[in-house]
Amino acid sequence: MRVPIIAGNWKMNTTAASCADLCRGILQGTDGVSGVEKVVCPPFPFLSIARDCLKGSSIRVGAQNVHWAEKGAYTGEVSHSMLAGLVEYVIIGHSERRAYFCETDETVNKKVAAALAAGLKPIFCVGETEAEREAGRTEEVLLRQVRLGLGGIQVPEGFAIAYEPVWAIGTGKAATAPMANEAIGLIRAEVARLAGAAVAQSVRILYGGSVTPDNVAELGSQPEIDGGLVGGASLDADSFISLVRQTAEAAAAKP
Ligand code: PEP
Repeated sequence: MRVPIIAGNWKMNTTAASCADLCRGILQGTDGVSGVEKVVCPPFPFLSIARDCLKGSSIRVGAQNVHWAEKGAYTGEVSHSMLAGLVEYVIIGHSERRAYFCETDETVNKKVAAALAAGLKPIFCVGETEAEREAGRTEEVLLRQVRLGLGGIQVPEGFAIAYEPVWAIGTGKAATAPMANEAIGLIRAEVARLAGAAVAQSVRILYGGSVTPDNVAELGSQPEIDGGLVGGASLDADSFISLVRQTAEAAAAKP
């Protein structure tokens, strides 16, 4: 059985103090919950605060981005070797980075490869825009993003992918559970073509886009959905705790 992940993407939110408070609140409410991996992804300046607050716990820390080069003249960037040892996970290819910071399938591919080589665990994001879905291009877009993003990469067992339809992120308009399940099934089938059926069956594919405590149980009970990448609802400890607990329950109830 695949162990689901609830990963909180805190984006450009929190302060040093609120990051520490949030970590402590999440720790109190979820450290003992098993059957689900818990990941928090604060902004870069607060990663060591989160790491120190969560040291020795079952809650893992992730970054929100990484550069593919080891070091060099890349003003403002952070390399995989700087993150290794500080975090376990790293979000790569989030649609906000693709839309606002010119990330492409090619740069995302370089980042995933570099992160894996450095021993980091990517959460590789894919997802169609509203216009692409309305034009009937969802499958084509997802398969292209998976193929190019993972091209030439030996996908490890348990690798994490997040299916995040762009139209659902931060809009309060989540995909329906069957819709997300169908898209994730397409992604898993493409991973099987690239990496083989056994790896594809082990890969955790999260849904992201307006996940809340009100819809997480239904999403998590779908056969293909292995947890969530969560923005807004991960910024409140009680809400994050509820997401984790409901995801663990949904996973335990799966056949
Ligand atoms: C995200 O940031 O990846 C996300 C899905 O945000 P939200 O949960 O707020 O839609």
